[in-house]
Amino acid sequence: MKYRNLQIQTQREAPNNARTEGFAFLVRAGYLTRENVPTQMGEYTLDHLRKLSSDPSFLFHLSMPTIGNDSETFYPITSGNIEIAHCPSCKYTERVELARFAKPVGATRESPLPMEKVLTPECNTIESLATFLNIPKEQTAKALMYTRVSDGKFIFVVVRGDIQASEAKLKAQVGEVRAAMAEEIVSAGAVPGYASAIGLKESLIVVDDLIPQSQNLVAGANEAGYHLRNTNYGRDYEAEIVADLVLAKEGDACINCGNPLSVISAIVLDDREDRPYMENILLALAETYHDAKGLTLPHPAAAFDVYLMHVPGKELDTRAKAEELYDSLQSAGVSVLFDDRDERAGVKFNDADLIGCPIRVTVGKKALKEGMIELKPRREKENLLVPLDDLSHRVISLLQ
Ligand SMILES: [Zn+2]
Repeated sequence: MKYRNLQIQTQREAPNNARTEGFAFLVRAGYLTRENVPTQMGEYTLDHLRKLSSDPSFLFHLSMPTIGNDSETFYPITSGNIEIAHCPSCKYTERVELARFAKPVGATRESPLPMEKVLTPECNTIESLATFLNIPKEQTAKALMYTRVSDGKFIFVVVRGDIQASEAKLKAQVGEVRAAMAEEIVSAGAVPGYASAIGLKESLIVVDDLIPQSQNLVAGANEAGYHLRNTNYGRDYEAEIVADLVLAKEGDACINCGNPLSVISAIVLDDREDRPYMENILLALAETYHDAKGLTLPHPAAAFDVYLMHVPGKELDTRAKAEELYDSLQSAGVSVLFDDRDERAGVKFNDADLIGCPIRVTVGKKALKEGMIELKPRREKENLLVPLDDLSHRVISLLQ
């Protein structure tokens, strides 16, 4: 492929919207527009990756620092659009909204105390309630109310006040839900801000599995301005479903080994269902493989093994020789990006560094007079001088 055919446009400066170095280099090297749309060069590279992906182990061969589980492979990156809970010790990895963790049961189990109604004016949040009663949030029960989309069933969810609920885990238990409307809440016998599962009508009650292990929680009295002290699951109410319904957070204990979980941003590379996420894989490659000057893509991830260029000269037709090498390298099975522009050497060297093909091959007059060609692996500092006849052979052995 020739440089001009791909209409490659490199940039001197990183785009100011770049959130990661990998993205900045993909834009500067002309793979993506600043708006994150693949250019012709980008599409060509994505096609190349698609072909590689016919081998199910291709991600493994790209040697990137991925994390994952049986169903998904992720790449940690600060600009990632999803959050992953990850255990650095045992490598447990799961999307944060589905991650399991060892829940903090808290203080020693208390014996159930008699229920007691207390006046709690303007305490319609867990924060205001805990402050007003001067108790820790783990001593409260939080209510969330939904309506099931399929049959309109009112769903009353109870989680402990110190832990966030996970809607994804709830949906896994009951199906698709939406937030309940005021009239639906009222007709179930609940009062927004002061709701509990005690005494509800025609409701599907779903509680987090930490609730039966937590005694004497403060919960709503289903009466505006009032709460109940010492509500106890089993004695005061029961649920149709007891399940894990809450969200893991940074530092929670790993379900497998008990060590603290990290919560990190990531992108998905593969979910074993659809085709792998090629644009995310390209970003992960750029993030993994770059230096201060540009991309340093490995073979076979790079769409082109060789960046071929000539240094324009008056005495010798370096360009004609480069054309010859272009054909001979390709006949030897090497993929070549030929920079066929009549630009200064410095401009081409910069572009070669940005674009990041594994090997740069330079046809210059000085070496050519001696029957030699300059060859530079992208990740090495030094050039190699190689006899013309030996070029394809040396390129192929460097790629292996
Ligand atoms: Zn672990």
